[in-house]
Amino acid sequence: MNRWPEISFEDRMSTVHFDVHERAHITVDGDSCHGCTTKACVVACPANLFVPTSDGGIVFNYEQCFECGTCYMVCNVEGAITWTYPDGGHGVVFRRT
Ligand code: SF4
Ligand code: SF4
Repeated sequence: MNRWPEISFEDRMSTVHFDVHERAHITVDGDSCHGCTTKACVVACPANLFVPTSDGGIVFNYEQCFECGTCYMVCNVEGAITWTYPDGGHGVVFRRT
């Protein structure tokens, strides 16, 4: 069976560029996260942007987001994630390697 070659997280991130806009295109309601038992966003986000805190919350940083939408799909707490695309021309820029 053919497999994709192993690629480190650092190598994966080195293939993209982020033109960060000052407006956060994704926001996370920390109060909602405290009651969340799955913390599905933590394992689902390919950019590792959701970090659990010791008090049951989540720290989130939008700046290196791939805009894949996975976090919004896996989160089962209504209103916890507000998701939009970045304003025009900003956000992730995928590059050929
Ligand atoms: S899955 Fe949703 S509610 Fe749960 S920690 Fe992540 S963002 Fe918060
Ligand atoms: S859209 Fe994708 S890369 Fe961006 S925060 Fe959600 S899961 Fe992570």
